[in-house]
Amino acid sequence: MTSPLWTSDEIAAATAGTASADFAVFGVAFDSREVGAGDLFLALKGESTDGHRFLDQAFAQGAAGAVVSDATAYPNVAVADTTAALNALGAASRARTTAKIIGVTGSVGKTGTKEALFAALDRVDPGCAHRSVKSYNNHTGVPLSLARMPREARYGVLEMGMNHAGELAELTRLVRPHVAIVTAIAPAHLGFFDSVEDIADAKGEIFQGLQPGGTAIVPFDSPYRERLIAAAEPYATRIVTFGLGEGADVRAMEMMQTPAGGTFVLSRIGDKELSFTMSQPGDHWVSNGMAILAAVDAVGGDLELAGLALAELGGLAGRGARLSVPVGNGTALVIDESYNANPSSMRATLAVLAREPGRRVAVLGEMRELGAHADALHAELADPIVEAGVSRAILVGEAMAPLAAALEGRLNFVHVADAAAAKAELESTLAPGDAVLIKGSNGVRLATIVAALAERQ
Ligand code: ATP
Ligand code: MG
Repeated sequence: MTSPLWTSDEIAAATAGTASADFAVFGVAFDSREVGAGDLFLALKGESTDGHRFLDQAFAQGAAGAVVSDATAYPNVAVADTTAALNALGAASRARTTAKIIGVTGSVGKTGTKEALFAALDRVDPGCAHRSVKSYNNHTGVPLSLARMPREARYGVLEMGMNHAGELAELTRLVRPHVAIVTAIAPAHLGFFDSVEDIADAKGEIFQGLQPGGTAIVPFDSPYRERLIAAAEPYATRIVTFGLGEGADVRAMEMMQTPAGGTFVLSRIGDKELSFTMSQPGDHWVSNGMAILAAVDAVGGDLELAGLALAELGGLAGRGARLSVPVGNGTALVIDESYNANPSSMRATLAVLAREPGRRVAVLGEMRELGAHADALHAELADPIVEAGVSRAILVGEAMAPLAAALEGRLNFVHVADAAAAKAELESTLAPGDAVLIKGSNGVRLATIVAALAERQ
């Protein structure tokens, strides 16, 4: 039997709490729907809900114990503040582990890079890598991901996100990474920022928590490279740049598209060379791959094995998964990018659509969280759409109006209010051989279109 993740004594010690009974847990959750047999349930008090209301559900699902601030008859560790206890448990996990910790931030590509880096490290050292799930990257997701790290983990890959300046500075003090990656800087989640420079500075905060001897991994091709390097310099022992451009420390020197849509890459990692296939299509994925190799190299992992893992990555649902769906007497290709969208990822994935043979259809939902710049950033997508050779565009949501205006007379398009209308529009024109890109901010719910198409399979 594997050793428990936490005992009640350890939880009590970490959180300055009092255990009502002896118990051991094998997992941690604060969302009662995620609780499985043998888990610890943290009853957080949020603005709208109180986790204590879900204690019955958590224990019905097999919870072995809870962390609570209100009295309960279930086995528990009683604390003053359960959110503080979550942080304390994360910090205790970080304090006890001997794992190499890798923090991943950036405006785009955090989850994709985190998952692919995990796959690479899992290949390098099977069963020894831990990662955050989903996009659990904020002030609750990060401590939760830390608290879930097995004692014996040798690598921990943590996604770290932010909406405000100062947020990553705080998270990185908890995570204390040995390696910190910034994937890319782009206008995304701009709502709370005045400029992309400010975003670069806020992302650069991740370096403040680097451990002695730590490595900062910086996107070479970014216009904000120097800014990020300056942010890393006071904290990093090594700064490694990655990308496609000449001069990057970890660089894709030659690239060739494979018949399956991936990219064959000849790369240089310092003084080493590695040829591998990045299974995920697009230059942005080659770039993510370089960041991953830089991180594997920084922790002393076998690059050849990492390369093998990159060749086998599947597309993540909502973030590039490809589906072949029956249409009439043939099939259509659906590229599922329904999970999120911002100007940078829109451009990157339109370039992927541009490689597809056949009629190209783009179902594009509005990009949210762009603040005062939203109109211009939407309108500026007109050129990339036309350049991608899109035959028909279906624009979804009110914020797409400036883009519709910019596309007038340049392209066959419709502008509809919501995902349901877009679905009807798409289904009325979908033809065998079509390649369909479906991309928009999650809130536009384009995933419902993907789900409907997937049902045909
Ligand atoms: P979130 O802030 O929502 O957690 P994220 O940073 O985790 O987002 P991902 O979910 O990994 O980002 O990727 C979102 C989309 O960004 C992908 O579907 C893909 O279209 C695009 N993308 C991934 N990597 C890059 C990159 N390096 N540059 C530009 N776009 C990218
Ligand atoms: Mg994410």
